[in-house]
Amino acid sequence: MTTPAQPARATIAILGGGITGLTAAFRLVSRGYSVRLFEQTRRLGGSVGSECTEGWLIERGPNSLLESEPALAEIVQSLGLQDQLITSLPTAKKRFIVRRGQLCDLPMSPGGFFKTPLFSFRGKLRLFGDVFRRPRTRPTDISLGEFIRQHFGQEAVDYGLNPFVSGVYAGDPGKLSAQYAFPKLWAMEQSHGSILRGMGAAAKARRAANGGQRPPRPRLISFTRGLQTLVDALAARLPEGSVQLGARVEAVWSGPRWQVRWHDGQTSHTEVFDKVLCALPSGGLSQLAVGADGAMPLAGLAQLENPPVSSLFLGFRREQVRHPLDGFGALIPALERRPELGILFSSSLFAGRAPEGHVALTVMVGGVRQPVLARQSTDELLATVTPSLRDLLGVNGAPVFVRHNFWPAAIPQYNLGYGRHLAAIEACERAHPGLFIGGNTRDGISVPQCLRAGINLAGKADSPS
Ligand SMILES: Cc1cc2nc3c(=O)[nH]c(=O)nc-3n(C[C@H](O)[C@H](O)[C@H](O)COP(=O)(O)OP(=O)(O)OC[C@H]3O[C@@H](n4cnc5c(N)ncnc54)[C@H](O)[C@@H]3O)c2cc1C
Repeated sequence: MTTPAQPARATIAILGGGITGLTAAFRLVSRGYSVRLFEQTRRLGGSVGSECTEGWLIERGPNSLLESEPALAEIVQSLGLQDQLITSLPTAKKRFIVRRGQLCDLPMSPGGFFKTPLFSFRGKLRLFGDVFRRPRTRPTDISLGEFIRQHFGQEAVDYGLNPFVSGVYAGDPGKLSAQYAFPKLWAMEQSHGSILRGMGAAAKARRAANGGQRPPRPRLISFTRGLQTLVDALAARLPEGSVQLGARVEAVWSGPRWQVRWHDGQTSHTEVFDKVLCALPSGGLSQLAVGADGAMPLAGLAQLENPPVSSLFLGFRREQVRHPLDGFGALIPALERRPELGILFSSSLFAGRAPEGHVALTVMVGGVRQPVLARQSTDELLATVTPSLRDLLGVNGAPVFVRHNFWPAAIPQYNLGYGRHLAAIEACERAHPGLFIGGNTRDGISVPQCLRAGINLAGKADSPS
């Protein structure tokens, strides 16, 4: 008996070996596709990567993942990484925000909210004014800062939103788009008017979907050996020969099959595929020639702000730091006029980040707020942050371990006007069937959102078109 011949599976090119491209490649390989992944650097993972040395575990970019997207659990499960997964330590529950040079607990309960010195009495009353708002549909987008000011008042912007946005986007609330940077809040205003009532309704819906029980809060996770585990596990599932490192993709065009031209630093190469998945950052997208005429339809993405960030990992002997470091870390509002965007208490966040008797801090510097500071040398940065660390945390003496990671274009800013970039991406896909675009420029900036983006890209390549 002969087995009927299987139709040959399409061959897929994947541009960009960050977490989005790797996830797409992994999914397609699991479904029997032949893939080729092109990455311009000599390592996979893009912004994600960890280093283990002398008992320290350093995250180069992202430090923790919030289990807010089902895609994260799905990928962890399908890679069999459950036994390496770790959750944040109980010590990481508290979050601090700096006000008048002091670390104030971010209130986690109504009682805590009334007691916190983070907001004035007037500021607290103003926050509750939000419950009286009626649903509205705005004719145009507004800045996130203005949106939150209208709902909760200026103090909430200065000491709630501003530090939060620095922590997530390294961004400026006055520039970020309310509609695109925080679409859930935008939708809540349309459906409920009040963000507080919208949040209450969302919590109620979650409880109902969980059989009337309050569902557990999404956990903050990493892996015993850091987030590199995710990158390594994804890469290990790709067959030999499917990854091309040191390959800068310059152009893609179809005629009728897709051609991908890439450069290895000396020579140009062209390969042929059935579909192309593009998981490049905004800078890469803006320089990509698409189509037989060599046009660059996404050139406008060069205008999308993508500020630099320096991540400074500092190790100290325990006795060098007076603060108990009993929290996740501290976020610094712009009004405090300090050089840091935030300070993560890395060794309180996850186990195994510092040798016995030591603690580790990760200081984030730069972003839209102070891009010049991010570009400083390691010594300059140390000199910049040392007085502030002494003030805020009682840090005494020089660090015993330093690692500096510089991200020249760290995080794309979904600023006002972002809609036109989305429209350009959509138009490019429409004009070039078989080309699909995803990743942090389009689908959300967190790693879990990029995992979802990778899964979605694979799904598009897997459907007949
Ligand atoms: C300092 C920092 C801290 C962060 N903290 C967190 C956090 O705590 N939690 C969280 O969830 N997220 C965090 N993020 C965000 C998150 O890490 C990123 O948004 C996400 O990893 C982006 O993944 P990506 O695959 O879409 O893009 P990238 O990681 O940018 O990958 C794109 C890849 O494409 C390659 N490339 C570019 N151009 C070309 C070309 N022409 N040809 C071939 N290859 C090309 C690049 O070299 C890169 O490897 C942080 C990011 C940074 C920088």
